[in-house]
Amino acid sequence: MRELVVLGTASQVPTRTRNHNGYFLRWDGEGLLFDPGEGTQRQMIHAGVAASQITRICLTHVHGDHCYGLPGVLSRMALDGAAHPVHLHYPASGEQIVQALVAVSSPGIDLRLHPHSGAGPVADGLEVRPLRHRIETYGYLLTEPDGRTFLPERLRAAGIEGPDVGRLQRKGSLGAVALEDVSIPRPGQRFAFIMDTAPCSGAEELSDGTDLLVTESTFSNDDGGLAQQYLHLTAGQAGDLAASGKSRTLVLTHFSSRYGDDMSLLAEQAQARAAGTAVIAAHDLQRIAVPPRRHLVRETADHYDGDRVKP
Ligand SMILES: [Zn+2]
Repeated sequence: MRELVVLGTASQVPTRTRNHNGYFLRWDGEGLLFDPGEGTQRQMIHAGVAASQITRICLTHVHGDHCYGLPGVLSRMALDGAAHPVHLHYPASGEQIVQALVAVSSPGIDLRLHPHSGAGPVADGLEVRPLRHRIETYGYLLTEPDGRTFLPERLRAAGIEGPDVGRLQRKGSLGAVALEDVSIPRPGQRFAFIMDTAPCSGAEELSDGTDLLVTESTFSNDDGGLAQQYLHLTAGQAGDLAASGKSRTLVLTHFSSRYGDDMSLLAEQAQARAAGTAVIAAHDLQRIAVPPRRHLVRETADHYDGDRVKP
């Protein structure tokens, strides 16, 4: 199961309806918690997310609205007796703050610290790119390797069934049958998380080809001067990112409290520049499914009319 649970959507100050940042991504067996701001532990209860489901915590940067919820969440994991390793990723320059937050948390969990100080992979399938904010900040990209989808008619015609299907997948061929003869490419899914940045190449790289793109949208286009001053995105710039990356779904969040509760204007501004991307202005406790896999690669699919195995 792959879904995003939005725990909070406010930037600097929370409001009556918007908690500070916080996002939980269910990704098969992993549970990734991004940028837990104050109140994240309680938001998780409202959302039905158990602390023990967290396997990895990713901080974009160490401004309070992105990390002050960390001690509460870690302490809750200890209280609940979480026995699995918990990986914590953060910019290396935030070491002191992270150490302080960890120091005030209840001990007892197998917490593993992973500071990073440049672009690149930080775990299997997870990589970071630097963003442009007032302190060192990184966005995250989660990718599934490209795979192949078997075509049942072709498998049948080739007489391959049962455990032989797995064998063919692992070896690339079985007798005279090549994997390519009975399957078609299946692009892996991509999820990106971009917080607190001015427009930059790192953000563009992260958004490229994403199925689900979560990005800050602190300001309305009309407050572009403030966005520029504090190194944040306007809603329109968030839309630009989705358009340049050909993202399928754009989730806007990290809103300034100045806009009250109604984010329809920001959603419109983003949509106006987001080409064919579906735009969602997130609200607290919203659940957003990672969109179903992309359709088959066109050149291949054009030559094929039969049924196909759903991944
Ligand atoms: Zn922030």
